[in-house]
Amino acid sequence: MNNCIFCKIINKETPAEIVYENEQIIAFKDIKPSAPVHILILPKNHIPTVNHLGEKDRELIGELILTAQKIAKTQGVKETGYKLVFNVGKGGGQIIDHLHLHLLGGWPNEKERNVPGMP
Ligand code: AMP
Ligand code: ZN
Repeated sequence: MNNCIFCKIINKETPAEIVYENEQIIAFKDIKPSAPVHILILPKNHIPTVNHLGEKDRELIGELILTAQKIAKTQGVKETGYKLVFNVGKGGGQIIDHLHLHLLGGWPNEKERNVPGMP
């Protein structure tokens, strides 16, 4: 998509701190982190929201979650725990219309574990 910021990161037209990439998926650090570890995991195909996923995307959906698990390990939060969040649509707090999974973790204690705009 022409003016999609995440497509621009995928096409290396905009810089990002990429932590994982394969043919289907890319993951990079959130520019305005809501947690000590805040990574966005997304398909390279421009799919706008969870509502645009269909039967053909079953494998991709699985890959997104398995990738999140791998990244949780490399980011050092697999054992301490983390959140995986999809914001869906305006009412769900989605600002960028390119499907992305938020991986959040690394809080030093439970008190710190409040993520603005997220459960
Ligand atoms: P959402 O509200 O679910 O659409 O989340 C969009 C996320 O993308 C926010 O947490 C932003 O901080 C993050 N974000 C926006 N622009 C960039 C960028 N250029 N690089 C990395 N993260 C970004
Ligand atoms: Zn896009």
